[in-house]
Amino acid sequence: MKLPPFVYEAPTTIAEAIDLLAEHLDEASVLAGGQSLIPLLALRLARPAVLIDINGIAELSGVSAANGWVAIGAMTREYMAEESGAVADAVPLLAAALPLIGHEAIRSRGTIGGSLAHADPAAELPAVARALDAGFVVRGPAGERVIPAAQWFEGYLTTARRPDELLVEVRFPAAGRGTGVSFAEVARRHGDFAMVGVAVSLLLSGGVISDARLAFAGVSDVPVRATAAEDLLVGERPSADLFEEAARRATDGIDPPADLHGSSDYRKTVAAAIVRRGLRAAADNAARGSD
Ligand SMILES: Cc1cc2nc3c(=O)[nH]c(=O)nc-3n(C[C@H](O)[C@H](O)[C@H](O)COP(=O)(O)OP(=O)(O)OC[C@H]3O[C@@H](n4cnc5c(N)ncnc54)[C@H](O)[C@@H]3O)c2cc1C
Repeated sequence: MKLPPFVYEAPTTIAEAIDLLAEHLDEASVLAGGQSLIPLLALRLARPAVLIDINGIAELSGVSAANGWVAIGAMTREYMAEESGAVADAVPLLAAALPLIGHEAIRSRGTIGGSLAHADPAAELPAVARALDAGFVVRGPAGERVIPAAQWFEGYLTTARRPDELLVEVRFPAAGRGTGVSFAEVARRHGDFAMVGVAVSLLLSGGVISDARLAFAGVSDVPVRATAAEDLLVGERPSADLFEEAARRATDGIDPPADLHGSSDYRKTVAAAIVRRGLRAAADNAARGSD
C-alpha cells in the first residue's frame, strides 16, 4: 500500500534533528529502521505531516563500554548489537534476546533505539531494558536527560520522551561475574512476536542468588518486573522448588491480554512455565560462567 503524503527531512546531525522536532513537535515522526513505522504509515495508523529520517546521522550509531556501562547509540542496528563483542561480554541478557527479534532481514534494518522508542510491550528489548534498569538518554532543545527504564515505558507504545526530544543512546549496566541470563519465550512461529516472554538475570555468589531480575513481555501494556519473585529468590540457592514458587509469585498478580492467539489464562499458564524454564537456564548459565 502507498504511504500517505508527508514532508521528508533528512538531517545529518543530532542538532539538526532536534531543531526539526522542536519546530514540528507532534506533527513529526522520527524514522529509524522503519520496521514498525513504515507498516503503521502504510496502514494509515500513523499520519505524520513530517518524517524526520535519522539514518544519515552517523553519531547515533555505535557501541561503547566504560565505567561499568555499555552505551548503545539509538541508530545501532539490531544485528550490529547482536554481533558486538562488548554486548556479548557485558550485557549477555541483551545478547540472548536480540536473535529472538523477528528475522535477520528485520534485524538488519531495525535499530535498538527504534525498538525501545516504539515500546511495544510484546517486544523483547523493552523487557531486557526494564529487567536491567537501563538508562534512556534523550536530547532536546533544553539539553540532555537520562530517563530510568522504570519511568520510560508509560503505556502501550507510549514513552516518557517529549515530542521535541530525540532518543540518542541507551545505557545498560555491565553484568557482574557470576551472572547467568536467559530470555525465554513462546511464539506461535519462529520470528513472530512472542505471546509471552521473560527476561531473566541471576547473579550467583558462592552458589547463592545475590541479585535476581525478571521482566515480562506480553503480559500488560508495558514490560512488567516480577518483583515479588525477585524478592523471594535473593538469598536462596537455586532449586526446582524455589523456581516453582517464584513462578507462582511472578504470575500471581498479572492479567495478560487475550487475543486470537490465546486467552488470558493460557498466557498466564505459559508465563509460569517460562519463568521456571528461564530461571533454570539462567542458573545453569551462571554456574557455567563461574567455573
Ligand atoms: C515482520 C516483523 C517482525 C518483527 N518481529 C519482532 C519481534 O519478534 N520482536 C521485536 O521486538 N520486534 C519485532 N519487530 C519490530 C522490529 O524490532 C523493529 O525494528 C522495531 O520495533 C522498530 O525499530 P526501527 O528501527 O525499525 O524503528 P522505526 O520503525 O523506524 O520507528 C519505530 C518508532 O520509534 C520512533 N523512533 C525510532 N527511533 C527513534 C529515536 N531515536 N528517537 C525517538 N523516536 C524514535 C519512531 O518515530 C516510531 O514511532 C518486527 C518487525 C517486523 C516488520
